[in-house]
This record gives sequence, C-alpha cells and structure tokens, in this order.
Amino acid sequence: MTLDPQADLGRRAWLPCRYCGDNTALYLLDSDVNMIWVQCGRCLRRWWHDTGVGRGRRPEHLFDVA
Ligand SMILES: [Zn+2]
Repeated sequence: MTLDPQADLGRRAWLPCRYCGDNTALYLLDSDVNMIWVQCGRCLRRWWHDTGVGRGRRPEHLFDVA
C-alpha cells in the first residue's frame, strides 16, 4: 500500500490510528458530513473515521488546512 495521491501534507491531523493505536499523522483524503476518509501516515491503512461532529458542521476544523 502506498500513500494515497490525495494525501496532502497540508491536511493532516494528529489522531489515534485505529490500527497503530498511537497518535500519528492522519491524512484527510475526503469527508462527508461528520465522517472523514483518512489514511494513516505510518501504516498507510485507510478507513472512515467518525468525528462525532454534529450534523451540518464540517469536520475540516480538525485539520490544519494549509
Ligand atoms: Zn496506522
């Protein structure tokens, strides 16, 4: 598995990887309402992460958008 071409160094969040466990750089690949499609920068696995953000709010605030 390789880093997704959509992965952007400017859009990362330090969140626990569901596979690695530790806080690590997750790349924001896509988002839909309160779900974000992320890729772990360490193990390169991808999954939909539920941000728990309420409806109508965009989850991008979690990320440092350059
Ligand atoms: Zn990981």
